[in-house]
Amino acid sequence: MNAAPQAVAATAGFDVERLRADFPILQQEINGKPLVYLDNGASTQKPQAVIDAVSNFYAHDYANIHRGVHTLSERATAAYEGARDRVQRFLNAADRREIIFTSGTTEAINLVAQSFGGQKIGQGDEIILTGMEHHSNIVPWQLLAERVGATIKVVPITDDGALDLDAYTSLFGPRTRLVSLVHVSNALGTVNPVQAMVETAHAHDVPVLLDGAQAVAHTPVDVQALGCDFYAFSGHKIYGPSGIGVLYGRRELLEAMPPWQGGGDMITTVAFEGSTYAAPPYRFEAGTPHIAGVVGLAAALDYVDAVGLPSIAAYEHDLLDYATTAVGELPGLRLIGTAPEKAAILSFVFDGIHPHDIGTVLDFEGIAIRAGHHCAMPVMTRFGVAATARASFGIYNTRAEVDTLVQGLGKVREMFS
Ligand code: PLP
Repeated sequence: MNAAPQAVAATAGFDVERLRADFPILQQEINGKPLVYLDNGASTQKPQAVIDAVSNFYAHDYANIHRGVHTLSERATAAYEGARDRVQRFLNAADRREIIFTSGTTEAINLVAQSFGGQKIGQGDEIILTGMEHHSNIVPWQLLAERVGATIKVVPITDDGALDLDAYTSLFGPRTRLVSLVHVSNALGTVNPVQAMVETAHAHDVPVLLDGAQAVAHTPVDVQALGCDFYAFSGHKIYGPSGIGVLYGRRELLEAMPPWQGGGDMITTVAFEGSTYAAPPYRFEAGTPHIAGVVGLAAALDYVDAVGLPSIAAYEHDLLDYATTAVGELPGLRLIGTAPEKAAILSFVFDGIHPHDIGTVLDFEGIAIRAGHHCAMPVMTRFGVAATARASFGIYNTRAEVDTLVQGLGKVREMFS
């Protein structure tokens, strides 16, 4: 299988073997076979630079942040606030105060649902979601809708796994208060035309939250160019630590939003008669945060930017094309999600074999994939399956690993035929 000349040109200079050497976890065997890690959609592995940043921080600079008068607290605060600047640059946000640290995408969406939603969305109002949302971009809105009496409207998915954009446009009405939409689907791999979808929403004066959990590690994200009002992502999906994530919010919106969790660090004054709240981002960062996680996240963004997101995107796109052709040649394999614009995710069902059995047999071969509903049950329902097997690729995956996956799937079929 030869890559198109254009793809070769786009990926030339991307030294995957050098990158692989940065990830100590990849240098091992599982069940006597070299590890082939294809579960990057669930979580990515960490380069030594991230491991070292977290470990050095704990070894030399750790203390609680803000208000400390001693040297370690000052160092830790500088590292934490420096990471905020780092994220601002990464997303090209206009202002560092637009960057809020959360525990992940899930918490970021819950923050918006409870704070912005609790204030702006009421009885009879409408929230637009899409049929391909992760549960973390469905359930927070359902909790809000049940509480205030709002309604959720859903953009349908086409047969190839794209969004029906005509249907999207027709869902707007006078009571639409928010669109919350996934940038890249974790279950289908679809890359949604979010910039155009934001423009449509803004034409109706409706703000948009983008769930970037599966996007940030695979494509450059510029929140100002996208025009979105909120953008959420998780550190662990971009080669950083788990338990840390980011909510970007446009400053005017954040300024007007009430706190959602109360505690230390989010106040200006506290008295039993009443308290006053800090300005964003601190208003939304109650309690001691995951300080070392923030440090690790900054190191991960440094790492990814040093490799370069445009070349990562080109490399992974080439790998996706190669893998799509290779697995597509297996009789009995049906890809779920074949939209024209896709990130490096292959979701499939195979010969009636249960995806969990596929995952288990592949694990004997040292291959890590994910099997299940991928926290996107409505997508499974839409395509009439209970679960899929999913191979999701990252910067360290290779064509040789795709070949190993295809051989592994051959063994799966032998075992179950
Ligand atoms: N949104 C999407 C599209 C995801 O893929 C995920 C995780 O798989 C999430 C949200 C939730 O991310 P986290 O569990 O890191 O909060």
